[in-house]
Amino acid sequence: MTFENLNLIEPILKALKTEGYTKPTPIQEKSIPLILQKRDLLGCAQTGTGKTAAFSIPILQLLSENKGQQGRGTRKIKALILTPTRELALQIGDSLAAYGKHTGLKHTVIFGGVSQHAQTQALREGIDILVATPGRLLDLMAQKYVHLDQIEMFVLDEADRMLDMGFVHDVKKVLNVLPEKKQSLFFSATMAPEILKLANTILVNPAQVEV
Ligand code: AMP
Repeated sequence: MTFENLNLIEPILKALKTEGYTKPTPIQEKSIPLILQKRDLLGCAQTGTGKTAAFSIPILQLLSENKGQQGRGTRKIKALILTPTRELALQIGDSLAAYGKHTGLKHTVIFGGVSQHAQTQALREGIDILVATPGRLLDLMAQKYVHLDQIEMFVLDEADRMLDMGFVHDVKKVLNVLPEKKQSLFFSATMAPEILKLANTILVNPAQVEV
């Protein structure tokens, strides 16, 4: 199996070559086709399996295919990736930058514990993909810096850690403002009953992938 076999677009294949990726990992091989078919996905995978690329690559591809002419300030956030920690958020941001560098799509990363100024500046300039931790996201939503009414794709990353860290109510508050019609991807290293319960409130007829 190669990335070419997964029907990825040339700008992404080129970026993956630059990264030195020669073939997809098992989670990528299984998830990417399902996500490209616009299925909801329940993914059971640990960090280190290539999970980040498994959702980042098809998000970049689907949004590239949809992209109209968009200039500064006119981009609407079309994909939201929620993750529990600043470190994970920054890693996802780095992955989007690497895999998406020839797509023309823009993203930014927001997290707490630092001044919001640079983050609100990036939001004002317009982005396609937002990577966020829950607390800072709700904070910037309340201040009207973030509008999620055009979201087409939603990712909940590391759902088990999200619950462990007490973010379940924050996650639900975010879910409440997302459009009903969207594609949702849910990743967790474990699938305890309360995690599956949360997954069931988010996903519609999900495909399941385990590695
Ligand atoms: P993750 O599980 O998303 O934290 O990824 C773990 C590491 O694997 C990261 O450093 C990625 O850059 C790397 N990686 C992801 N996919 C591939 C791939 N197909 N080939 C080689 N390295 C990869």
